[in-house]
Amino acid sequence: MLWLLCGPSRAMESHQVLVIRIKIPDGGAVDWTVHSAPQLLFRDVLDVIGQVLPDATTTAFEYEDEDGDRITVRSDEEMKAMLSYYYSTVMEQQVNGQLIEPLQIYPRACKPPGKRNIHGLKVNTRAGSANNSSSAVSDSLPSNSLKKSSAELKKILANGQMNEQDIRYRDILGHGNGGTVYKAYHVPSGKILAVKVIPLDITLELQKQIMSELEILYKCDSSYIIGFYGAFFVENRISLCTEFMDGGSLDVYRKIPEHVLGRIAVAVVKGLTYLWSLKILHRDVKPSNMLVNTRGQVKLCDFGVSTQLVNSIAKTYVGTNAYMAPERISGEQYGIHSDVWSLGISFMELALGRFPYPQIQKNQGSLMPLQLLQCIVDEESPVLPAGEFSEPFVHFITQCMKKQPKERPAPEDLMGHPFIVQYNDGHAEVVSMWVCRTLEERRSAQGAP
Ligand code: ATP
Ligand code: MG
Repeated sequence: MLWLLCGPSRAMESHQVLVIRIKIPDGGAVDWTVHSAPQLLFRDVLDVIGQVLPDATTTAFEYEDEDGDRITVRSDEEMKAMLSYYYSTVMEQQVNGQLIEPLQIYPRACKPPGKRNIHGLKVNTRAGSANNSSSAVSDSLPSNSLKKSSAELKKILANGQMNEQDIRYRDILGHGNGGTVYKAYHVPSGKILAVKVIPLDITLELQKQIMSELEILYKCDSSYIIGFYGAFFVENRISLCTEFMDGGSLDVYRKIPEHVLGRIAVAVVKGLTYLWSLKILHRDVKPSNMLVNTRGQVKLCDFGVSTQLVNSIAKTYVGTNAYMAPERISGEQYGIHSDVWSLGISFMELALGRFPYPQIQKNQGSLMPLQLLQCIVDEESPVLPAGEFSEPFVHFITQCMKKQPKERPAPEDLMGHPFIVQYNDGHAEVVSMWVCRTLEERRSAQGAP
């Protein structure tokens, strides 16, 4: 192994110093210590790769995600995503008291014409299997064709292959009004899932209707919406299998600082805009349906895609949701504007660290008797205290929580609001670091070593 610039750094003292391990095609590697990681540009990485591999023209490089899938980096934006993912793994290693691994990257070079892989040879380019023959041909093949990619996995899982026998239930992630969510292991794919199990005493006909209404979830493809892998009925319960988010839902985070909340709001607005573009109303926007992970991703879950499922659950669990817009509490028509109210009240709660109406005590979940929520219909909407929060943030919440639905921002205006514009900067690492720090604090509060 070669060392470039400085020697090895075994522990990463701060995110300023970063060790990048450049894997070279002959199976070796070069470690590069970067002293000002936040200023690092994609171009700088290509320059250093150019020094390490002077005979190749490198145009991009790859890194491996937690599933072993190779992700290509071709721009500063993609670099940011890579660094954010890497820092989340560093946090995890720190939390577990492990040695910090360098960030491994795999240069993708354009070969001189004479060396091209004209015979279409396929080799395994996975880490640990590099050998001399692989170095000659590896980059002429898209690396993700060599292993099961996430997209492929999603297809396999969604292809009617989800069933109870393949699932090993592990911990309970939480209970809602409709059912219980489990962390589970899907044996054929080796993937960790979140499985929501809802008891439902309904006819076979209704079961079929629900399954067909859920079909649209397979088509949802947005980084701001929870991945859906499939659903199945066993006896009198339905299981909905989705992507597992290791940071859980926002309701347990309490007061979130504005600079973090701003980035979360951008993702939530993008998720809602995506759903609305598919003519899907969320209908249950609230902090417990906003999930985060240690990579700094924020995703929406539990949107009302199946009317029949929503109705069947509502028959069992009576009550009114405290995040519902005044017009909905009054039994009037529901529309996109009602989702916008719920967005406003949710973010107000997350900013204050308490439900915005002091007279409403949300001790047990978000469902409560209708009379208790009458103050939302009768009273002026609460406002964020201006001294504590920025003017754009206060304005954003005030607009979303207008009593008159039509006065609330339209979908196209939400993305253009100064609060959203200000934080639409792609800095997922802000959320990632905050999630990791909070999880670490929770662990030490529970007395974990
Ligand atoms: P309600 O039933 O009123 O919607 P809820 O959203 O709190 O309330 P559930 O949707 O059943 O209830 O979820 C229970 C808990 O499970 C959530 O609060 C969240 O912490 C956790 N959870 C749900 N989905 C996931 C997921 N995909 N990954 C990780 N944790 C999850
Ligand atoms: Mg939920």
